Amino acid sequence: MVRAGDRAGYVLISLRNLLVAILLSTGCQQEVVPPPANLPGIINTGELFTQHGYSYVVDGDRYIDLLYAPNISFAHAAAVSWIWMASNLNTRAPIVGDTLAPWPVPDVPPRFYDAYASEYRNAQDFHAFGAFFVSHLESNGSGCPPGLSITGGYSSTAGQNQVPAEERLRYTFIFAPDLQALAASCQYSERTLMYAVFTHELGHQRAGLTHVEEFPNYHNGTLPQGRVDIMHRVLSLDDITRYEFHFFDELPLPPFIIGDEESCNYNLYNWRSITN
Ligand SMILES: [Zn+2]
Repeated sequence: MVRAGDRAGYVLISLRNLLVAILLSTGCQQEVVPPPANLPGIINTGELFTQHGYSYVVDGDRYIDLLYAPNISFAHAAAVSWIWMASNLNTRAPIVGDTLAPWPVPDVPPRFYDAYASEYRNAQDFHAFGAFFVSHLESNGSGCPPGLSITGGYSSTAGQNQVPAEERLRYTFIFAPDLQALAASCQYSERTLMYAVFTHELGHQRAGLTHVEEFPNYHNGTLPQGRVDIMHRVLSLDDITRYEFHFFDELPLPPFIIGDEESCNYNLYNWRSITN
């Protein structure tokens, strides 16, 4: 478990193909985070992948809290934590043999991302979730677009507030160099931008969470004063640049009826059934 008030990073230790994430406490954190939901904690295991050349994204140096920041958000909302197991930090480019090939626009048939994730996730299907840190998405431009209008990541869902039944089809892709370029040209914090996008995408993956803009009916909860729901399609620049840890909208819990989808924390609560 993590504690609010700690700043922590993960170190990945290589044992041939198996790498293990270890939580290290490294001192004080300035940001005050309220206590998590009053529920028994559950821990999910995620498989971690990086495309060839991108293992530095998860080694804990450039983004020290990358694997920790989402835990604050999920623990607060529904007492869910993640442990990440690095399965393969040298995955192939989207086109075999073309190391410079960009990633295709998501959701174009055939289900390119399903197939790619299945290629790596299939043999490791005892892990509930998966994350891939990869190279450039072809539709992302350069410069500093208004409103953070790039696609920072892509995650699978099985529809609104629904999670794919097959573990190999649960995944998040993060287009790391595009976020780095955006941060550089807009002078945002690259670190906190990466944490925000990763937390947002894991919200999609973990419980099929929707965007506030498109489905406000699933976001009726409240947030700590001055904070913004991390499930906005267009992330709040102010929130991203000021904070490392983010929040999902929350309604009081309990009372609670299974199947209630009115808020992020209710949807996360519904999917606490996934415990591996
Ligand atoms: Zn999204």
